[in-house]
Amino acid sequence: MMETHAQYVDYLPTKEKQETSQELEDTAQQQQILYQKAMNQEQPSVLQQRSTVSKGKYTLNDFQIMRTLGTGSFGRVHLVRSVHNGRYYAIKVLKKQQIVKMKQIEHTNDERRMLKLVEHPFLIRMWGTFQDSNNLFMVMDYIEGGELFSLLRKSQRFPNPVAKFYAAEVVLALEYLHFNNIIYRDLKPENILLDRNGHIKITDFGFAKEVTTVTWTLCGTPDYIAPEVIATKPYNKSVDWWSLGILIYEMLAGYTPFYDTTPMKTYEKILHGRVTYPSFFNSDVVDLLSKLITADLTRRIGNLQNGTQEIKSHPWFSEVVWEKLLSKDIETPYEPPIVSGVGDTSLFDQYPEERLNYGIHGEDPYEALFTDF
Ligand code: AMP
Repeated sequence: MMETHAQYVDYLPTKEKQETSQELEDTAQQQQILYQKAMNQEQPSVLQQRSTVSKGKYTLNDFQIMRTLGTGSFGRVHLVRSVHNGRYYAIKVLKKQQIVKMKQIEHTNDERRMLKLVEHPFLIRMWGTFQDSNNLFMVMDYIEGGELFSLLRKSQRFPNPVAKFYAAEVVLALEYLHFNNIIYRDLKPENILLDRNGHIKITDFGFAKEVTTVTWTLCGTPDYIAPEVIATKPYNKSVDWWSLGILIYEMLAGYTPFYDTTPMKTYEKILHGRVTYPSFFNSDVVDLLSKLITADLTRRIGNLQNGTQEIKSHPWFSEVVWEKLLSKDIETPYEPPIVSGVGDTSLFDQYPEERLNYGIHGEDPYEALFTDF
């Protein structure tokens, strides 16, 4: 199995401080107004709308569990097949005990709440949730094309137009999340899946958070974390634009700009902030990256007066027809070779399977913690 970027999360209890940074708050509000004007949308964001979705009505008996597609810190993701319609889905299983031990109760409930509400062509869709005494289950669309991470490691690096295509779809997904006051906080190639046509689907909302102003929690993945997060300063949505810069750099170079052998050394490099661009990077992308990977929040593109628009109209993206991209009316650079129709898992790594203790309904010490599932 190829080595992935290790995730970091501060396991101390999340202590969201009361004071706010006026400067960041003002920028966030300005951007919200601008986006609404630009999109001519006056309706409330998805999180403001009252959810009319009723509790997930699935149970484990509705699915036949098949192989493991991936593993996370709290459990695993399985390919499953509906016993009713024969369709394939992915079910993410989280062990309650592990979530509690790692103090991730709030993040897990946030993940469920946001996944249930978001609806966007480049974001994973969740159909419902359920639980047993030991585990939480999230039923999602199965995305057959595997992780962008695997494709990148196999290709070593992407040509400029390929990196631009994936980056542009990520920009649209982040624009939508930010418009809905959601910071994603864990952008990296492992969390970007490819559908059967080669379009992206961002998965893993484990660190996504609804924030109208600023927040403080230290979380993310070392190579991708913005300096203000490491420095435990208040931060806003623009941490995702920093990570977009790291993602574009990694897609083009094949390695991340602050890579080092330990997270501590990586953090030191991030705080130091010196980026070396390979000579084969074109001048437009160097210009964009220097504006994304900047510690100075008054200069970071995406965090300025015109918000995401400034990124979308940057010369590196000049060929992108954003409306067409959003409607997937653009040929993808790579179609995953899915061989045996729906349910094919050849593009996913193999994981050792373990005996599953799913479906037990007995005493549950954590019953009160996950009532939404
Ligand atoms: P997560 O814990 O959400 O990051 O998921 C761990 C891994 O499981 C991902 O990196 C993917 O390889 C795989 N995975 C997660 N969700 C899906 C999905 N909906 N379809 C296919 N594979 C998935």
